[in-house]
Amino acid sequence: MIPAEMDAWVVARPGPIATGPLERVRLPVPQPGPGEVLVEVEACAVCRTDLHLTEGELPPHRPRTVPGHQVVGRIVACGEGRTGLAPGSRVGVAWLRWTCGQCRYCHRGAENLCPWSTYTGWDADGGYADYLTAVANYVYPLPDDVPAERLAPLLCAGIIGHRALLRSDLPPGGRLGIYGFGSSAHLTAQVALWMGATVYVMTRSEKARALATELGATWVGGATDTPPEPLDSAILFAPVGELVPVALAALDRGGTLAVAGIHLSDIPSLNYDAHLFRERSLRSVTANTRADGREFLEIAAARPPRVATVAYPFDAADQALRDLAGDRVEGSAVLSTFSSL
Ligand SMILES: [Zn+2]
Ligand SMILES: [Zn+2]
Repeated sequence: MIPAEMDAWVVARPGPIATGPLERVRLPVPQPGPGEVLVEVEACAVCRTDLHLTEGELPPHRPRTVPGHQVVGRIVACGEGRTGLAPGSRVGVAWLRWTCGQCRYCHRGAENLCPWSTYTGWDADGGYADYLTAVANYVYPLPDDVPAERLAPLLCAGIIGHRALLRSDLPPGGRLGIYGFGSSAHLTAQVALWMGATVYVMTRSEKARALATELGATWVGGATDTPPEPLDSAILFAPVGELVPVALAALDRGGTLAVAGIHLSDIPSLNYDAHLFRERSLRSVTANTRADGREFLEIAAARPPRVATVAYPFDAADQALRDLAGDRVEGSAVLSTFSSL
């Protein structure tokens, strides 16, 4: 039985997290439209993008939207048309909600750049709720036998981290520098290590440095420390523009820096010789394609990463975001709707 109403959180007044931008509300359970499915949420992991949306660093696309785009749940209803998915299937709902499929970017396999793309928890209500709708062609099938809280962080932290790793052009057996070590970084580091990389982690959090060492990083240091060897590739996970020149200066000749985040504070002026010359590259990462998502979830199924999670009851979503803002989350914060945690 699907109830008429559900519990949800909405971004009521975008602003600093201390001002209480999130509001706990009752909403009607949404109806799946044509080609959509209705998903009952088991768990939703918290992404830094949720914080950017809540604090207004990313402008709202519509008022009072439910955030959350790392959702594990079960399909409980299908809209009109063929969805190819049966009620009862376990699926993941991620950030990329829909793309046009017609534009020059979609045609060349770069649907992440589609100007008409829409996003879960930004253009449509997300997973800080008991139910959400998703476009059937954009959900990922998930295994039944893995706890929801271990799967949820894979859906953005994992997938976007994977795209960032691809964008960083890490050579086989190369040296990878990771700046910032939260939810996405700790998953990406494990994939890089399996690929035979040597991993260097720069982060201000002592707990995160301990986790990095535990996971197999060769060297850990403070946020702006210089790694002991020049890097072939680096990924900037911290949303801190001041770290761009720091990371570029740490690159070897021909090295690449990928900026993983959707939001970055301003980058200070660069010096061509110190930061870019000798064919160093600076790249951004914009969302992901479904192919990236499928590829990462296959890797994660073949070699399940250790997922460091901090569990929050559904009622404590605002606390989870406050803790993320205050750097108090080690790994991934996960909201659980059910008592599976
Ligand atoms: Zn398109
Ligand atoms: Zn995200």
